[in-house]
Amino acid sequence: MSQYDVVVIGSGPGGYVAAIHSAQSGLKTAIVEREPTERLGGTCLLRGCIPTKAMLHTADMLETLKKGDQIGVMANDVALDMAKMQAYKGRVVQKNAGGVSYLMKKNKIDVHLGHGRLAGKGKVSVEKADGKKETLSTKNVILATGSTCFHLPFIDMSPERVLDSDAILEMEEVPEHLVVIGAGAVGTEFASVFLRYGSKVTLIEMAPAVLPSEDHEVSAEAEKSFKKQGMTVLTSSRVTDVKADAAGVKMVVETKKGDKTSSQTIEASHLLVAAGRAPRTQDIGAKGTRLKINERGVVEVDEFMRTGEPGVYAIGDIVDTPWLAHVASKEGILAVDHIAGKNPRPINYRLVPMCTYCSPEVASVGLSERAAKEAGYDVKTGVFPFSAIGKAAILNKTEGFVKIVADKKYDELLGLHIIGPKATELITEGTLAMELESTIEELLMTIHPHPTLAEAVAEAAHAAMGHAIHI
Ligand code: FAD
Repeated sequence: MSQYDVVVIGSGPGGYVAAIHSAQSGLKTAIVEREPTERLGGTCLLRGCIPTKAMLHTADMLETLKKGDQIGVMANDVALDMAKMQAYKGRVVQKNAGGVSYLMKKNKIDVHLGHGRLAGKGKVSVEKADGKKETLSTKNVILATGSTCFHLPFIDMSPERVLDSDAILEMEEVPEHLVVIGAGAVGTEFASVFLRYGSKVTLIEMAPAVLPSEDHEVSAEAEKSFKKQGMTVLTSSRVTDVKADAAGVKMVVETKKGDKTSSQTIEASHLLVAAGRAPRTQDIGAKGTRLKINERGVVEVDEFMRTGEPGVYAIGDIVDTPWLAHVASKEGILAVDHIAGKNPRPINYRLVPMCTYCSPEVASVGLSERAAKEAGYDVKTGVFPFSAIGKAAILNKTEGFVKIVADKKYDELLGLHIIGPKATELITEGTLAMELESTIEELLMTIHPHPTLAEAVAEAAHAAMGHAIHI
């Protein structure tokens, strides 16, 4: 029987990064993955971050070329070829999955394909696709089994016109009318893809705003932009009944306005249910261990990702922290550093950047204006629009703004909120500034190159100090 220092169950961005870091730390490491072929990388790489961003890239390019005439680039008859788009997306995924396999070999990590379960103290069982079992012996286990699409109990997902985020990635044609339930990151990204591919899109959100966890001004701007682009957006609305067959989908939608609730029937060609994710913790061998799994299926951990069972850690989408690839990876590194006795610093979850790659992009770090006020800060804000930024005009993308939330007393940066071009790249400026506990004055003193989109961050800092320069 193989003897390991660390066995990681699950090869998503939590698991595979943990495995690499573990091997690099001199620990004998194995990874267990249940995907039938050697396709490592988890949800993120196979069905999440990577394929969706490939689709978003094609939608961006399509939009840019269609608007080319506005800047003198006459790209006539621009069209989408879904089969070629799917082939491109497949290549991107395969290249990245191959990269993860290569890194496993390079770092001498044993890959065991099969379903992994805790199997008593210091043991992990691996059940292979042919039913054969092997047992691995290990000092530590890192559970990184991730999540799956959450399905609403009243919606039958079997008709092929009712889709979850896994299924919509494989579409071979552009839906005529796509209804999306859920205006969080996943829902708005697919809505942005298919709107620009040519679908009619209706976005339905239960909360009073789209991207409800973002700063209220950002959510309002996103909704305004979606509507301007031709999307129908129904907030404070819920789908209460769905009937689907081979011809299409019919659903009842209730919308609340003040005390009144109105109801309408919407007919569409396809329905995407993007109402969240569910942790994959049902079959990990938790029975008989001291692992605590709550009613939502989430594993309880301490600040070093330790579960209640000695030597067993849990990371990523199965714990109650933001369900993002970069969080899973950081948690994997933290768990390994704790195992290696490196006395690591726990993660400051206030500094997790949140990115949504819809059009326009949205990104934030730290506290929203409302959250900062609720936390008792005397808040000052600074807002600067991309319409006054030279680089945004050059790119022909002038929608959106940068918003700074700061503490009046100590001038500390509390939050950065961006909606607009390259927001998901620009946010790192705020994350780094907050990691370094920067003041707004320090942000403003930082020389920003011209012409860049990042100048909007410096201008928002000027605005928070009293006056922006270019407005
Ligand atoms: P996962 O990536 O879910 O990986 C878990 C792995 O464990 C899987 O490979 C699974 O097969 C395997 N596994 C499960 N159980 C077992 C078992 N018992 N034995 C062996 N193997 C097992 N996040 C971002 O940060 N940026 C984005 O742009 C982004 N876009 C997304 C888009 C979509 C459509 C979706 C659905 C998600 C997106 N996410 C994004 C979220 C991100 O994908 C997850 O937060 C991330 O993948 C979680 O990583 P993980 O390692 O915890 O688990």
